[in-house]
Amino acid sequence: RTVYVNGAFVPEEAATISVFDRGFLFADGVYEVTTVLGGRLIDFAGHMARLRRSLAELAMDAPADEAEILSIHRELVARNGIEEGMVYLQVTRGAADRDFAFPPAGTKPSLVLFTQEKAVSDNPAAEKGLTVVSVPDQRWARRDIKTVQLLYPSLAKMEAKARDADDAWMVENGLVTEGTSNNAWIILADGTIVTRPRSEAILHGITRSAVLRLAEEAGHRFVERPFSIEEAKGAAEAFITSASAFVMPVVRIDGAPVGAGVPGPLSRRLRQIYIEEARRTAI
Ligand code: PLP
Repeated sequence: RTVYVNGAFVPEEAATISVFDRGFLFADGVYEVTTVLGGRLIDFAGHMARLRRSLAELAMDAPADEAEILSIHRELVARNGIEEGMVYLQVTRGAADRDFAFPPAGTKPSLVLFTQEKAVSDNPAAEKGLTVVSVPDQRWARRDIKTVQLLYPSLAKMEAKARDADDAWMVENGLVTEGTSNNAWIILADGTIVTRPRSEAILHGITRSAVLRLAEEAGHRFVERPFSIEEAKGAAEAFITSASAFVMPVVRIDGAPVGAGVPGPLSRRLRQIYIEEARRTAI
């Protein structure tokens, strides 16, 4: 596999990053994951807009201009022959003497990209549905910035596995924030689609925005408001969204079936609509 590190395309075995890199020492870095479908990138512009925002919120320099970042994505997809999968991009504040204060201006940010092959459109999990368990949300309070501080989501994922579930929904002040690496949604008995509004409490999912837009265009009712685990358990349907999972039905929450305990019709429909649109607009 070929990866990209600070200006060079190299075999993964030959790629190196400094032990003084602030991503490694302080989790002082941000990332994006863009999905590849039919060898093309889904919602690249959305991912770049969020990357710009994450960088700006942390006063971090952009590592390259957007046209260059696009060409690096395409080059890696081509070199690794990726038809379906993802491109991971990470930017850190670079390597400098270990100090809590930021390094001097002019320190070069580190830019790393790699690909991963994965069946995303024909995912059997979409037929089966996912099971989730609730866990307290113990992350920091700026979840709208897509930082590489992923230790708590990783612990939450392990907690889910230990409880024989696929994923965890995190709960704060009695309300669901989001999944470990996805946004959480429910559908009420009257067909209203519900997801938490954007704030500092959740990551502003690129897929979330696309699904809200597509749901509206298809004439579905939706409301952006928080919901509790209890409300989710009593909902007609539930699902998650993320760049790599698209729309994925959730069929059990803390062991209790959601609706009939199988992927619901509207969740399935939204998945279909999303994939059609992604295929149509990928670049
Ligand atoms: N929420 C969290 C915490 C995430 O890590 C992710 C994606 O990685 C998402 C939501 C979904 O965002 P997107 O649809 O942009 O992949």
